[in-house]
Amino acid sequence: MQRAYLISTGHELLSGATVDSNASFLTARLLDMGLQVTGRSTVGDDRDALERAFAAGMATADIIISTGGLGPTFDDLTKMVACDIMDCQLELRPEEEQRLRRYFDARHRPMPEINLRQAMFPPEAAVLYNAIGTAPGIYLRKNDKILILLPGPPREMTRMFLNEVERRLQADCGLDNRPIGKRTIKIMGLGESQVEERLGNLLDVPADMAVALLAVDGEIHIKLTLTNSSKRTGHDQLGALSGSMAELLGHHVFGYDNDTLVTRTAELLLERQSTLAVAESCTGGMLGKMITDRPGSSRYFWGGVISYSDQAKQLLLDVDAAILANHGAVSAET
Ligand code: AMP
Ligand code: MG
Repeated sequence: MQRAYLISTGHELLSGATVDSNASFLTARLLDMGLQVTGRSTVGDDRDALERAFAAGMATADIIISTGGLGPTFDDLTKMVACDIMDCQLELRPEEEQRLRRYFDARHRPMPEINLRQAMFPPEAAVLYNAIGTAPGIYLRKNDKILILLPGPPREMTRMFLNEVERRLQADCGLDNRPIGKRTIKIMGLGESQVEERLGNLLDVPADMAVALLAVDGEIHIKLTLTNSSKRTGHDQLGALSGSMAELLGHHVFGYDNDTLVTRTAELLLERQSTLAVAESCTGGMLGKMITDRPGSSRYFWGGVISYSDQAKQLLLDVDAAILANHGAVSAET
């Protein structure tokens, strides 16, 4: 799997003012395409930090993608630093200058000369069209490295990535004919380290596979991603690996892919023609809400009680006063 490195730039990302949604979007998108993000940096608008980040990307990855810092102002240094590291010169592109001048003319505003920087590009780069802003992006392939510079505003970045970057990456990384297999195994009742321990060397997957463990809302998800094989053998490979994993995890596996605790519970109840009643305390009715949010739940859900106080537990659920006194309300015994 080819490796990608992400660089997010901007002081606002280091002050806690802005959440780095660009990095999450790109990580998920790249993984979907069969490219793995193996590292990322978040840096302020500062030349030294940018240089270190690009150097780290060049040293560890095949594809380096940065977002932010493409504006015309003095603190927007990304393009300069990136071109230095790729050993490229910035040259004025007349057609880009024309495009910028038309943009300002249409808004009846004079163009500040400083904006001309946005029309400077390395001759070997492709200029990525920005449909909703002034800063174009850059796609540069040189010496076995691919460098991609995207604007910071998430609306501009996502649009540019989907419209301009994806197909170029697919072509350059030979992803065109690689059907990508994916499988998620969903686990309940084991912690991340317990899952790891049980799986042991099954986690050392072949190079054309990626495995990730994610803790999501009390569940553990194992995400298996496969690239680089035909649809049929890929399907078999994923099936075999997820089967071996499921065997080691036993009844802790409750589902796969789009399954949720709620959908699996519903399926099992219907299969067994059983009905369900719930008694809740701390969750204050959340469990009943989750179950009844699913259309058709009246076929298996009887109802529930919210027995919040000790008195309600005794009165509605027959919990012995002595048990409550000896073990407390939050206890297995109660
Ligand atoms: P810039 O292209 O650096 O001028 O960024 C412009 C704006 O885009 C910033 O003020 C942020 O609000 C937003 N932005 C930049 N980088 C990110 C990021 N990684 N995630 C989310 N928003 C961002
Ligand atoms: Mg910025």
